[in-house]
Amino acid sequence: MDNIDRFEERKAKYTPVALALRELYGDINWSRGLPPLDELVDCILSQSTTDINRDRAFEALKSRYPTWDAVRDAPLQELIEVIRPAGLANQKAPRIQEVLCRIEAEHGALNIDFLNEMPIDEAKRWLTTLNGVGPKTAAIVLCFAFNRPAFPVDTHIHRVGQRIGFLPLGVSADKAHPLMEAIVPPADYYAFHIHLITHGRKICQARAPKCERCPLTDYCDYYKGYKTG
Ligand code: SF4
Repeated sequence: MDNIDRFEERKAKYTPVALALRELYGDINWSRGLPPLDELVDCILSQSTTDINRDRAFEALKSRYPTWDAVRDAPLQELIEVIRPAGLANQKAPRIQEVLCRIEAEHGALNIDFLNEMPIDEAKRWLTTLNGVGPKTAAIVLCFAFNRPAFPVDTHIHRVGQRIGFLPLGVSADKAHPLMEAIVPPADYYAFHIHLITHGRKICQARAPKCERCPLTDYCDYYKGYKTG
């Protein structure tokens, strides 16, 4: 993988890129969106689907069931129908119920606030032992719901990170998490995550990046035509 020199080169890109993105998209401060357990279930629903379909399924789930206990105890076939807009409902519904049962069995309540007290590596490990929860979901829950130092790598960050050269070409998304965490200062994880996603959606798009409108050309391996990694 990376030698030390290349890592230092990757890391040196952080400050100028972060400044340019902050200039372009403004300051971002963390604020909790969903409660922690809602965030976890929302992430499970979001796997292999669009944000719109995930939101439709999550809204259906919340309006059908008043509590997470009710979701856990719902007849499986009924729950599958409720979350069908998210796709893969046959897999996601039992997964959600299994996760809820496990939380209650281990912690005595349907609540994952205990993650806020765990050392970060332990919290990541615990989350990734849940069926259907990988490094991305674990990092989203810890970063978004608790503002803890975990850097989620989604498809935009995976692509933009490789183009700029934060990540070696061809690295898997799962392996990209610790690499980004080594490059970005922990206090900046949330803001930089949001900035890179925004950049991936608006300018550094998958099929046709708009390099002519991008303020990162001086730091971008893709723009310079380098073959890195
Ligand atoms: S210069 Fe082009 S490839 Fe590089 S980050 Fe900007 S839009 Fe993406």
